[in-house]
Amino acid sequence: MRICLYYFCFCGSFHCYGKVNIVGKILVTRSSMPPLEEYVDEIRELWDSHWLTNMGVKHKAFQAALKDYLDVDCVELLTNGHMALELTLQAMNLQGEVITTPFTFASTTHAIVRNGLEPVFCDIDPDTYTIDPEKIEKRITDRTCAIMPVHVYGNVCHIEEIQRIARKYELKVIYDAAHTFGETYKGRGIGSYGDASCFSFHATKVFNSVEGGAVCYHNAALGEALYELKNFGIHGPEEVSAVGANAKMNEFCAAMGLCNLRHLDEEIQKRKAVAERYRERLDGVEGLRLNPLQKDVTPNYAYFPVLFEPETFGASRSEVFDKLGQNGIVARKYFYPLTNTFSAFGGKYDVSETPVALHISKRVLTLPMYADLAPEEVDRICDIILSCQA
Ligand SMILES: *Cc1c(COP(=O)(O)O)cnc(C)c1O
Repeated sequence: MRICLYYFCFCGSFHCYGKVNIVGKILVTRSSMPPLEEYVDEIRELWDSHWLTNMGVKHKAFQAALKDYLDVDCVELLTNGHMALELTLQAMNLQGEVITTPFTFASTTHAIVRNGLEPVFCDIDPDTYTIDPEKIEKRITDRTCAIMPVHVYGNVCHIEEIQRIARKYELKVIYDAAHTFGETYKGRGIGSYGDASCFSFHATKVFNSVEGGAVCYHNAALGEALYELKNFGIHGPEEVSAVGANAKMNEFCAAMGLCNLRHLDEEIQKRKAVAERYRERLDGVEGLRLNPLQKDVTPNYAYFPVLFEPETFGASRSEVFDKLGQNGIVARKYFYPLTNTFSAFGGKYDVSETPVALHISKRVLTLPMYADLAPEEVDRICDIILSCQA
């Protein structure tokens, strides 16, 4: 019997959850876990070795398994997706401005700012919510050093266009690939694009190692720099050559990753069924817009965002959100607010420069989405949504 569920507090992110005792509530997501016995078997040898962190056997095995699964040249494991972004920027030794979008989780923008770099916000494509390549060049100055696009909700960015611009202006491209674990684009692992792609294995993602993250990259020197930066900048027993952080993935998280990876294909298949059920019920409804199915992409069904056009649907995103909440269903206004409006930045950025992102952020709702969401539950959610129609 499920008596104790996690439920997400109202702090604007999937990340915070409070714990309440509630039965029958449908949450926006639910962490995947392997059978307990499988995890116990996986960690058993740690009781013999007493080697709990610092790149032990589980770390190495998980790294190898990921390289294989993601179909990429090289992978570096980290404590979380945020450190993957932050340390990749540091490892590249960048200075100046980084072009990015505000329609993302706080982490993307914070990684830039915490490196002493300046985020320059570019607007998004109204269909996929990823960076609009036609607006990138106008944002380039002689101080631009990199582009940090986000594959939002698992929607793949306009990779060829971004690559063309990056090559022309000699900019680095670092993808925030936190939402695209396991996806492929044109038959290649999504992590193989750009100079680096950063993944998150947070508990709320399609694939989790409790907390965790990884950087996929091609350049060996970048890998060495990342390896040192995640371990205090230690270069050798008697040499510390960089001001590093501590971002080493421990053995217990790596073991969880190894177990969850074995079940991932099945998890994604189950998510697919949930997404298809949502589409059957909501696609074509006047005033609702669903994300397009992208050509050349093998999706992972990470999220199910719906855009509500109140003029034609007859109810606003907030009204639907409240109605769902009254019925014990937790959806999310994800991504709202935009990162360029955060009070942390004290009004430094002009949100009118990203009008499409602003429009979408006021109208989008991500619906509950996880492997074990039952068809009847999807129907109940859709019934409530459709009952809001004018
Ligand atoms: C989850 C997430 C991150 C950060 O990952 P953590 O593992 O939680 O640190 C970064 N960017 C996006 C878009 C995310 O959704």
